Amino acid sequence: MQQGLAEKYELFGCMQCGKCTAGCPVSLRGPLNIRRLIREVMIDRNLEAAARPEFWDCTTCSTCSLRCPRGLEPHELIIGIRGALIEEGRIPATARDALEGVFKHGNPWGRIRSKRSEWAADLGIKDLSKGDKADLLYFVCCAASYDPRVQEVAKALTDSLAKAGVDFGILGNEESCCGSEVRRMGEEGLFEMLVEDNLKLFHERGITKVVTTSPHCYDAFKNKYQDSEIEFQHYTQLVADLISQGQLTFSKELNKVVTYHDPCYLGKQNSIYDEPRYILKSIPGIQFVDFDRCRERSLCCEGGGGRMWVEGTDAGERLSGIRIRDAVEMGVDIVATACPFCLLTLEDAAKTAGLDGKIEIKDIMELVAQAI
Ligand code: SF4
Ligand code: SF4
Repeated sequence: MQQGLAEKYELFGCMQCGKCTAGCPVSLRGPLNIRRLIREVMIDRNLEAAARPEFWDCTTCSTCSLRCPRGLEPHELIIGIRGALIEEGRIPATARDALEGVFKHGNPWGRIRSKRSEWAADLGIKDLSKGDKADLLYFVCCAASYDPRVQEVAKALTDSLAKAGVDFGILGNEESCCGSEVRRMGEEGLFEMLVEDNLKLFHERGITKVVTTSPHCYDAFKNKYQDSEIEFQHYTQLVADLISQGQLTFSKELNKVVTYHDPCYLGKQNSIYDEPRYILKSIPGIQFVDFDRCRERSLCCEGGGGRMWVEGTDAGERLSGIRIRDAVEMGVDIVATACPFCLLTLEDAAKTAGLDGKIEIKDIMELVAQAI
């Protein structure tokens, strides 16, 4: 099995330079050494090395792959090893529960399907599962469907799209998990089933354009579904276009100092750096400042790669905590982001640091909706 993984991920090209580990944000706080993992698992043919708890600390942020001078993809290797361990039934119980939730109910929290679109009740949004037609599908995401905090982002986005005159609809209770985190946790078989089912549904409903709340859904659709008949966008791309074309205009000022946390799945993995900043700078009254560690050098929040369902080891300071500390030192009022997982992890870090009410964590869309 290890031989297969080494060939699949071209690990024999690894020269053990360590640039992957040097770039790895999780290695900052100690537990994970991706170069050593490659050596132990692949060179020494020792899958047991990967079974150590810190192996699940990887957020699959992909910084290691961006830094590798040989063009290797260490983060894909981690996903492959997770898959090999899952085949042996070796998976953290919380991750197993999340995968079961997706299989049975279409979401990793195991919430019942009939409540998926409850957040949209009374908002007058078209429901394509009920026969409504629209130019654009808004793919809501499991987090935005069920988590009350992220539901606020979905409401801000749908409200803004409606005001901009965009003809859109949702899939209501027919929407299922995109499978991004399923794949990142190593469950390739379940991911392939989701790809097949979701694409079948999109085609049955005549969908040709999709916009997502989450960079994780966007990344999976764009890079793994790869359906040439459907155009996928993250909302920051669509909203930036609507602003630049004058379809979305602002009437209020937000007199706040705002910074932006680049979600790894939007920035590092899909090179979408400019659109979120363009939106923020377009909002009247916002004074925008970038983090020192921004864009390609941005610090991961530790919410990706299944980490919403795997606690991880507790060595060192959480990266989301470092992010909040940096933001406080910069003197900002608001940390804006554009990802449900970043929003939740950063907000949690602010609360843990006792900064609740002193610094706000907002999705960009919430700021847009406030200023319209
Ligand atoms: S950066 Fe690439 S070549 Fe260097 S140790 Fe990491 S995987 Fe190997
Ligand atoms: S994907 Fe990110 S967290 Fe995982 S090993 Fe690579 S750099 Fe580290």
